[in-house]
Amino acid sequence: MTVPTYPVETTAPPTAPAPAPAAARAQLLNQGSVEQYRQAIAAGVDRVARRVADVDRPGTGVTPAELAPLVDRVDLDRPLGDAGAALDELEDVYLRDAVWFHHPRYLAHLNCPVVIPALLGEAVLTAVNSSLDTWDQSAGATLIERRLIDWTAQRIGLGPDADGVFTSGGSQSNLQALLLAREEASADALAPAARAELLPRLRVLTSAAGHFSVQKSAKLLGLSPDAVIAVPTDAGRRIRPCAVREEIARCRQAGLVVMAVVGTAGTTDFGSIDPLAELADICAAAGVWLHVDAAYGCGLLVSPTRRHLLDGIERADSVTVDYHKSFFQPVSSSALLVRDRRVLRHATYHADYLNPARMVEQRIPNQVDKSLQTTRRFDALKLWLTLRVMGPDALGALFDEVVDRAADAWRLVSEDPRFEVVTRSQLSTVVFRYLPTGPGRELADAANLHAREALAASGLAVVAGTRVDGRHFLKFTLLNPATTVDDVGHVLDLIATHAGRYVHDHATAALTCSVG
Ligand SMILES: *Cc1c(COP(=O)(O)O)cnc(C)c1O
Repeated sequence: MTVPTYPVETTAPPTAPAPAPAAARAQLLNQGSVEQYRQAIAAGVDRVARRVADVDRPGTGVTPAELAPLVDRVDLDRPLGDAGAALDELEDVYLRDAVWFHHPRYLAHLNCPVVIPALLGEAVLTAVNSSLDTWDQSAGATLIERRLIDWTAQRIGLGPDADGVFTSGGSQSNLQALLLAREEASADALAPAARAELLPRLRVLTSAAGHFSVQKSAKLLGLSPDAVIAVPTDAGRRIRPCAVREEIARCRQAGLVVMAVVGTAGTTDFGSIDPLAELADICAAAGVWLHVDAAYGCGLLVSPTRRHLLDGIERADSVTVDYHKSFFQPVSSSALLVRDRRVLRHATYHADYLNPARMVEQRIPNQVDKSLQTTRRFDALKLWLTLRVMGPDALGALFDEVVDRAADAWRLVSEDPRFEVVTRSQLSTVVFRYLPTGPGRELADAANLHAREALAASGLAVVAGTRVDGRHFLKFTLLNPATTVDDVGHVLDLIATHAGRYVHDHATAALTCSVG
């Protein structure tokens, strides 16, 4: 065989290229810089540790208008040259006003305080910088991720053919699940014309309390704008199985194809868990893919007392879990699990330079064959070290504790005449609102909005807001075992004070207005 030759550029550069300055080379982690690496990381850890030790509130209430000039003022083309100086600057543009999820009065979103073994994992994985796309960029990291996928699938009960992959978060996990469901639903429509005809007829059923990533996924997957059908929920904000059954029948009558039912195991707002076993029955009878979005509720997989709340999840075709929500892991750490490993082929493409098809026969484990991502973090290491240091029962006990605390908080709010509370969560949220008595009732929406903003501006506590039946409500999401019932009571008092003052000021103004 003759190797083709190509013309080679013969004009040499006028001068030999200068080597990078020694100072630049010294910033690369290698044998010569390990001492500097130790010092820089220790200095960073020390800054964070000092902040964590000192912060007396979850935020400072800084506004974008206050902070943006500080960030804008930084001249990115004029380096400070040293990690200490950069950390000093970072205090001003980030650390001083950061939102601290470890603080017991951070009660807003699904952000958890993080466990130290996972932080250790993070420090190791970023320095080694394995990439989980191929074996030749990861070695043991791939095996560790695979063990954790198997472990999670076993906890779910997905059976011997299960598989999955770590993802960047629940949104990506849901997207991939729906991609697989779409491909399975169009298995008989491979010709372009048949696919084009089918695509606009595909439908996804999920509850009205389901996650918006289902809608985004439908858009990304080229489905019709009305592809996601919001199925009504019961008083506990769980999907109504009979409504799912009816909707499937209605779709079929209308010539539509239900490609997936998405059950939610822990809705973001209400912590409600759809009746998974009933959904599994319906999906099995109708031959429809069942995806369970357990981004929030996955912590129950390790709960010593509440695992039964997920009964039926083992019959799903695919499951989303967010370890970065209820497993106390740092962002990002999530996975998609599937019952039948073969469906992951829908995400498989081969590149000659990366994962040529022959590697499959050679049984070289390339996780990129299962993933939407190519270069991918070794997030699994955080969960690995967490399990190796603490074990699953300890993690589950932490999640159990916040679920118990949320039940206490629900009781506290529901017994307080100043507030109205929605449904009792099966997990760890409380959705409620301040309800003015007497004159000013019509100000309830504005008063709750105001209370949330005023609270955030004070930095003393952070709570979330949402809408229920068109009304503004407030939401506690408890994910911190350090939050006490006293903390919750204290935050309720702050909310009542802000909202009460608002109602007082505005009801009086309205009165003055109508009289004048
Ligand atoms: C948070 C959440 C998601 C999205 O997960 P990310 O990790 O934020 O992408 C999906 N579904 C539910 C029910 C969630 O609570």
